[in-house]
Amino acid sequence: MFLDQMNYLEVEEYLKHHDSIIIVTGSTENHGKHMPLGTDTMIPTKIAKLIDERMGKDIVIAPPLPYGSTSDLMGFAGTLSIGPELLIQVLDKLCGQLIEYGFKHFIILNGHGGNSKSIEQVGFDLYKQGAILARVDWWLIAGDLNPYWKGGHGGAEEAAGVMAVDPSLIKMKYINEGENFVNDLGDELPTYQWTTVKFGGSTITIPRPIKNTTDNGWNEYSLTTDRPPKADPKWGTEMVNAMADYVKEFVPAFEKVSKY
Ligand SMILES: [Zn+2]
Repeated sequence: MFLDQMNYLEVEEYLKHHDSIIIVTGSTENHGKHMPLGTDTMIPTKIAKLIDERMGKDIVIAPPLPYGSTSDLMGFAGTLSIGPELLIQVLDKLCGQLIEYGFKHFIILNGHGGNSKSIEQVGFDLYKQGAILARVDWWLIAGDLNPYWKGGHGGAEEAAGVMAVDPSLIKMKYINEGENFVNDLGDELPTYQWTTVKFGGSTITIPRPIKNTTDNGWNEYSLTTDRPPKADPKWGTEMVNAMADYVKEFVPAFEKVSKY
């Protein structure tokens, strides 16, 4: 059930039998030319819809949070970040109110890696209030469920996920376009992946906007096999359904945990 479609009596009734809630966290950020800015919100939102179809009255799903922490991608037009601290504050505030109503088991269905540390902190904060949080980073779990699906920012895994939402959201004319790195710190410290440089046989992280280091800011096209042209809608549909099946099994197992 979606919280925004329920009335308060239905929430009270639900809380007589359950105390779990799913909250989707996403982001609004550049994913290269081939993908929409809302990728990290729309894929877990789709998974949440499929979970709702499977679980019905046995789970409540809160409205998704479409903004997250994505400082590294700032500068690509349309990218919006609330930063790690504000994300913690927003989730602490909302979850604290939900605890007062009787919710105790929080499942954060997360679509964006930049949110993960903040969500972890919220878990520690909620624990002190007698609640417990599980962070479900969908793209990592999907990669465990099927290694072929394993991927990252703007790659085939996410492209397939977006195709499960709506294939027309992928800009196919850019699907084969790679990414060029810019040695913004000079040739002695060549850019290697996003905020990293190569030096002396290893790598060093030097945080700076990815806008400085790549020409389109999606993924390490030249460094990985997670390439968007591999994606297709069938993969995407199988993957979001597999994730919904996984969460459907996880929620009752998690809700059973009463000593923590
Ligand atoms: Zn993403």
